[in-house]
Amino acid sequence: MLEAHVLASGSDGNCTVIESDGEAIMIDAGVSCRRILSLMEREGIDSSCVKAILLTHEHTDHIMGAGPTARKLNVPVYCNRPTFEACNLGKIDYRQISTGTSFELCGMNILPLPTSHNAAEPNAFLTEADGKKILVATDTGKLTYQVEHALSISDLAIIESNYDTNMLTNGPYPFNLKKLIGSDIGHLSNVACANAIKRTERKGRKIFLAHLSKTNNTPDTARETVAEIIGEKRFNIDCLEFPGDTRTLKVKA
Ligand SMILES: [Zn+2]
Ligand SMILES: [Zn+2]
Repeated sequence: MLEAHVLASGSDGNCTVIESDGEAIMIDAGVSCRRILSLMEREGIDSSCVKAILLTHEHTDHIMGAGPTARKLNVPVYCNRPTFEACNLGKIDYRQISTGTSFELCGMNILPLPTSHNAAEPNAFLTEADGKKILVATDTGKLTYQVEHALSISDLAIIESNYDTNMLTNGPYPFNLKKLIGSDIGHLSNVACANAIKRTERKGRKIFLAHLSKTNNTPDTARETVAEIIGEKRFNIDCLEFPGDTRTLKVKA
């Protein structure tokens, strides 16, 4: 069975573990190594199952614990060359991947997809095992064609719903930061996320809203906006509720 453990999601750090038959990959390690280990223990993940760390892009909320965690677990780090060059991970076992080229790891097929974000070469990841697909797509100002297609074929989509437009506009961020977040290379709004889900409607697909802004969004606002636009009951749309919350999402074959 394919399952995703969302250990952290948002501006304070992002980390998701995807497990298939007792082996796992970690997508992003944006909190401290110590915290990652304690979150894994809490979620019942045996850290020896984790065989690799994959990085989406070089922003601190995605890589903060990557070097120490890779060394502690003695696992390689996979990311594209521009991302690697933009990070400073210390001494690690680096494995180069290319956007658009799939590779095999832990019995899973992993496809790095381009996102649209203010980073060197940011990626989303589509992971497939036993005919089931999990998409992890955050930090993207708009959905690229490739991510939108992946959304249309995934069984579980962990997708960014970063901000409420009114909260961003009227919030405390400086003008230039507001402009960047709202741009095509910033983050995805609740409405843009919902519209993408609606456009790519797929029966049985689970949606998990990710990377919610602490300042410009709330779990209730995100869920309510998305639920209304896609015509789904609010309790069918999930996201992390509070700092330190985690979630295990199962995709049954
Ligand atoms: Zn970012
Ligand atoms: Zn981020």
